[in-house]
This record gives sequence, C-alpha cells and structure tokens, in this order.
Amino acid sequence: RLYNEVQELKGNIRVYCRIRPFLQGQNKKQTSIEYTGENGELVVANPLKQGKDMYRLFKFNKVFGPASTQEEVFLDTRPLIRSILDGYNVCIFAYGQTGSGKTYTMSGPSITSEEDWGVNYRALNDLFHLTQSRQNSVVYEVGVQMVEIYNEQVRDLLSEDVPDASMHSVKSTEDVLELMNIGLMNRTVGATTLNEKSSRSHSVLSVHVRGVDVKTESVLRGSLHLVDLAGSERVGRSEVTGERLKEAQYINKSLSALGDVIFALAHKNPHVPYRNSKLTQVLQNSLGGQAKTLMFVQINPDEDSYAETVSTLKFAERVS
Ligand code: ADP
Ligand code: MG
Repeated sequence: RLYNEVQELKGNIRVYCRIRPFLQGQNKKQTSIEYTGENGELVVANPLKQGKDMYRLFKFNKVFGPASTQEEVFLDTRPLIRSILDGYNVCIFAYGQTGSGKTYTMSGPSITSEEDWGVNYRALNDLFHLTQSRQNSVVYEVGVQMVEIYNEQVRDLLSEDVPDASMHSVKSTEDVLELMNIGLMNRTVGATTLNEKSSRSHSVLSVHVRGVDVKTESVLRGSLHLVDLAGSERVGRSEVTGERLKEAQYINKSLSALGDVIFALAHKNPHVPYRNSKLTQVLQNSLGGQAKTLMFVQINPDEDSYAETVSTLKFAERVS
C-alpha cells in the first residue's frame, strides 16, 4: 500500500487526532482514553466524574492510536503532498500541550533512522521523488525557509540579520536534512534547554515549489508549510509572572488567532482575521482560498492530562 488514495480529499480542512503512547514510568491503567474508533471517533473519560457523565465524545477525520507508526500517520498525509505539485498550497500543523508528541509527529525522535522520520522529512522526500519522476515533462525548483515565531517576533533560523526569511534552494532530501539541522541548532541558541524555548515558540518550515512545463513553458507554483506550534497548555495566572507571563500571553493570543482563522475558513465566513497575530500573517497565503489545511491534534493518554486533553480536543472540534 504505497498511496492511500482511497480516502478522498474532502473539503479543505482536515483534523487528525494522534494519541501519544504512555512513556516509561507512567501507569497505563490511569488513562483518560476510553475508546477510539476507525471512523475518527474518540471518547475520553473524566477521572473526577462517574457514570455516563464522565464520558465525552469527539469526532475527527481520523484518530491515530498510541501504537500507530510514523509511516501509518504519513500514509494519510501523502495525497496532500502530491497536490502541492498540482499547484496547491498546503499547511500542516501540530497542535497540543507540551509533551504530547508534536515534534515527534512533525520531525520525529531522530533523523538517523528513516523509520523515525516525521512528516517533515517524509513529505520532502516524497516531493523530491515526485519531481524527479516527472522531470522529463516538468522542471521543478524547490526552495526552503525556516522561521521561528517567539513573542510575536519572527526570526529566520537559516541566516542571520536578514530582513525577510531567507530562501534556500534545495535539490535533495539530504540538502533539506542539512538545512533543518542548522535551523534546529539556531533554534536552541540562547535557550536554557532545548525543550524550554522550543515549547514556547512556533516553528515554521516553508517549502516553495515552482514547476515549469517543458512543452508549454507554463509555470505552476505550490507551497507547503509545516508548523510545530508552541505548547497549548494554559498557564495559571497566579503561577507565572514577568517573562513567562508575557510568553504565555503571546502564545494564547497567536493560538486563538489561528483558531479564529481556521474557524472562519471552515465556515466560509467572508471576513478572515489574518492580521491578529504574526503566525497567521506568516501563513496568510497558504491558509484559505485553494489551500489545504491539515491539523494534527496531539494528546496525552494519561488521566493527569485530562483537563489539557479536553481543552485541546475542544480547540480542534471548533475548527473541524
Ligand atoms: P512536544 O513536541 O509536543 O512537546 P514531543 O514530540 O517532544 O512533544 O514528545 C514528548 C515525548 O514523548 C518525547 O520523549 C517523544 O519521543 C515521546 N513521544 C511522543 N510521541 C510519541 C510516539 N508516537 N511514540 C513514541 N514516543 C513518543
Ligand atoms: Mg516539541
């Protein structure tokens, strides 16, 4: 099963929920996940309630259980990647609290083994294979940008001191791996620990594809934005002050702005509020219109995360 084309691309916004497995040391019995169905149904159980009041049903385009592999997750993403070469703009997000597996889904736990590769690497790998297989009829150019949005400021992760995000031409998956490593290293500069800063900023990897038809010389452009969002957890006002409070407010603001934009698009509202955050401004051209959007909603399986899990699922339900 190479391509999963059975599942047609219906509508322009899709939401997939992915449940992280229990980590070592966690008690598997204390789970808030009651049921997952083939049809995208998910039932969560509130540990503080009893009887039928404790259950809540959510429905998404798909639910990936804790045992799902990186490959399985990508199979359903694949048709979207192909559509980029037909001139579509595609946006893929990972949303969820810190520790729910956003980076695991988007980048993977490591890049040394292909099995571990997340959506980013698999998508680019596919893009290059597809462009090569069509090279006799269409000549493609691929450019990559990588930025981080932290406290409503956009920072280029691939070059320093440039006013706009720098564009880097790439010819192979290896070129991309190299650039992503540079980006990752720049992302951590100044951060106390890797997880600290990366969980408070959004990272956006943008891929621009331009294809020129050899015969007709007509030009087709498509793009892909891969977004590892800042952690969505609510920080209690009493717990944080100063810098942390500011960070939390910026994150709240940009995630709700993103939710509002996707909500407006999903409901075909005439006004789409792109201007309310840097994140939605950066993504404006690839959200809406002919663009296709996929959101990975990442959740933790444990009871202790129940409140965050429900708030994550509600966010996703609103935009789906
Ligand atoms: P986030 O980016 O949302 O903060 P991470 O992707 O860093 O979360 O995941 C948190 C931890 O859980 C990491 O140790 C990661 O390797 C592990 N993890 C996440 N998703 C999975 C998965 N599907 N399978 C195995 N381990 C996972
Ligand atoms: Mg992360």
